[in-house]
Amino acid sequence: MATVKTDRRDFIKYSTMGLFALAAGGGMVFSPYTLKAENRLRPPGAVDEKEFLALCIKCGQCLQVCPYHSIELADFGKGHGVGTPYIDATIRGCYACEAVPCVLACPSGALDHACEKATDIKMGIAVLEFPDTCIAMSNTPIPKGYNDKMHKFIAAQNNVTKYEKEVLEKFDEFEGKQCTLCADMCPIPNPLSAISMVRDKSGGSRPEIYDGCIGCGVCEEVCPTMKPSIVVKPRVSFEQYYKS
Ligand code: SF4
Ligand code: SF4
Ligand code: SF4
Repeated sequence: MATVKTDRRDFIKYSTMGLFALAAGGGMVFSPYTLKAENRLRPPGAVDEKEFLALCIKCGQCLQVCPYHSIELADFGKGHGVGTPYIDATIRGCYACEAVPCVLACPSGALDHACEKATDIKMGIAVLEFPDTCIAMSNTPIPKGYNDKMHKFIAAQNNVTKYEKEVLEKFDEFEGKQCTLCADMCPIPNPLSAISMVRDKSGGSRPEIYDGCIGCGVCEEVCPTMKPSIVVKPRVSFEQYYKS
């Protein structure tokens, strides 16, 4: 049966506590190598990871101008690249601003200014990683409380923008409906080029991904299951994932 989250931050917190308990009990060590292996979702326009780490001056300009509070700076717990910007799609995806202000603000070339508009963004690719937990597959209506996490996220910001209010307003309209959140909240100018709900042989429906997906991570953010059923693979293209 699908487990539906009410607050994924709590889930993450408790999962992390469990991991630390395991580490303490079993003598597990977080080696820098283990942390280095983490594949991060970078902001729009990010050049190749090695070059990105060399070019990024950790000024935080991209984060400052993001009207959705999508970008975070890596701290010590995130391994290498301390101070570099990344997007945790389980918390907040990128809402694909038309003029891509994060890229415009980047003074170092770490975010390539050739990325000029939403459709130029290529951060990764969405994948229905856990179809068994997708509530659309079992025709389970979206439960009350599915939007608690986004409300708490917004409440924690001290400069909520009108864009965030619009997203929240739209997101609040889905309670009790069949789940189409990943497809209906996809923020790109032509969402049908990226994702749509299709009938599944199980009798339910499921999201299908197309080559217009930019890997922004919003579908992962809004997916109401405890562990998102749909996830973004950073720096992977549609061709690499679906055509190879
Ligand atoms: S495109 Fe917009 S929402 Fe996405 S990271 Fe850049 S500023 Fe934030
Ligand atoms: S399907 Fe849409 S919301 Fe999901 S990663 Fe792709 S572009 Fe973003
Ligand atoms: S958001 Fe998409 S992947 Fe997640 S449960 Fe709903 S239909 Fe399934």
